[in-house]
Amino acid sequence: MNQPASIERNAVTKAIAYEDLCLYIDGEFVKDGGRREQPVFNPATGEVIAQLPHASKTDLDRALAAASRAFKTWRQSSPLDRSRILRRVAELSRERQQDIGRNITLDMGKPIAEAIGEVVVCADHCDWHAEECRRIYGRVILPRMPNVRQMVLREPVGVCVAFTPWNFPYNQAIRKIAAAVGAGCTIVIKGPEDAPSAVVAIARMFHDAGLPPGVLNVVWGVPHEVSEYLIKAPDVRKVSFTGSVPIGKQLAALAGSHMKRITMELGGHSPVIVFDDADVDRAARLLSNFKFRNAGQVCVSPTRFYVQSRVYDAFVAKFLDYTKTIKVGPGIDPESSMGPLAHDRRLPAMEQFVEDARKRGATVETGGERIGTVGNFFAPTVLTNLPDDAMVMTSEPFGPIAPMTRFETIDEVLARANSLPYGLSSYVFTTSTKNALAAQNGIEAGMVNVNHFGQALPETPFGGIKDSGIGSEGGSETFDGYLVTKFVTQMD
Ligand code: NAD
Repeated sequence: MNQPASIERNAVTKAIAYEDLCLYIDGEFVKDGGRREQPVFNPATGEVIAQLPHASKTDLDRALAAASRAFKTWRQSSPLDRSRILRRVAELSRERQQDIGRNITLDMGKPIAEAIGEVVVCADHCDWHAEECRRIYGRVILPRMPNVRQMVLREPVGVCVAFTPWNFPYNQAIRKIAAAVGAGCTIVIKGPEDAPSAVVAIARMFHDAGLPPGVLNVVWGVPHEVSEYLIKAPDVRKVSFTGSVPIGKQLAALAGSHMKRITMELGGHSPVIVFDDADVDRAARLLSNFKFRNAGQVCVSPTRFYVQSRVYDAFVAKFLDYTKTIKVGPGIDPESSMGPLAHDRRLPAMEQFVEDARKRGATVETGGERIGTVGNFFAPTVLTNLPDDAMVMTSEPFGPIAPMTRFETIDEVLARANSLPYGLSSYVFTTSTKNALAAQNGIEAGMVNVNHFGQALPETPFGGIKDSGIGSEGGSETFDGYLVTKFVTQMD
């Protein structure tokens, strides 16, 4: 395939202003001062668009000290004040959506409409946390004696540290920050160095909304150095991470060895089950759209397609038709429906998945290779006739690859869907209530979507089971990870 024509137009990105990258510590935006820096690349062009300052050890200590100090007062703040600040951040997100979205496209690569959409959706997340933080309740337990009063209090856990990834750089960060701030905790967050503009923009909004100094702090650096330092810090009581399963296990082990609470939102390998009785055209259209959103770099992306034999050929043909309409190009071009991969290390990863599938006899129906030599573009790829032990069927592809295979019976497909250690999301297409119920009951996953994609809303819990994680974000569960339970009993 040739270089997308619209890439030449990307020369304009050079002239567009980008976020002024910095750290945010104790209410101050800081940079320079001889700090180590790393370049930030535009994945559509390979150009360096900015330099990101790393936190020194002194910066990390300052951030931790500020978060510890601020916790003493923030924990006692009125939920109405927390709510007011979160609401203001929601408003600012809507006001600043264009600039923030454009900067996400510049450093992460996703199409501009998707980037702006991410910001707008997150305004809703802020509103939800603003509402729910006013409803953090305890309870009274009836005593065994009349002169005793027993109460259960829910208190903020303390200083939190969070590590967030590059695929939804705004969404992943704001969910953790809104939950911590709403619960009365303080937080030090290390965002994704590959796509840092969104987290800096979030810090600016909380600052402008009047969040007291030290409640939110933003640092950057070499991921394992920063995370190790912060997790071990004595004042830190909670660790929240979104990213890959192997890194999540490392961080969970470190947190466990220091007895810190964790929320882990880790990778998935979501099965899609399309039954014979499904509306095949609708399923193929929705799934093709969803599969290649954000170039497949989505933890809940559909990644293993199990299609019942009778409709397999028709489904593959329709899916291919829709896939071939995808316009790959720089995200800044409004005509692009799929941008580049977020960084160049994902290209060899995609090539390895395709190479392995080919060796095992798979057919590459479309795509299967990099597009051009400028930017990290990889063609939307559909693979058929591959065995269940192909690498792409067992390891999270996290890219624009859709592997398809047949199944015969519901028991067989549920066993195959549940055969991996992942358990994040899953998708079922059927018009049979019997199949729908069997799939809902039988699939081992934190989320089951039947005939549509309905997850990741502010009011619904998002999270995985098995190796895909611990805890939920969103929904009425959203504060659970940021609160501790205190039992109080009193006798007169
Ligand atoms: P990676 O595992 O090196 O990094 C993933 C994310 O974790 C990055 O944001 C990175 O900065 C961060 N990270 C890595 N090591 C860390 C550490 N020791 N401490 C704190 N943060 C750390 O992989 P990658 O090449 O950047 O991305 C590819 C893989 O990451 C994919 O295979 C996918 O499984 C996973 N991923 C998952 C999600 C998700 O939403 N679950 C998001 C992004 C990436």
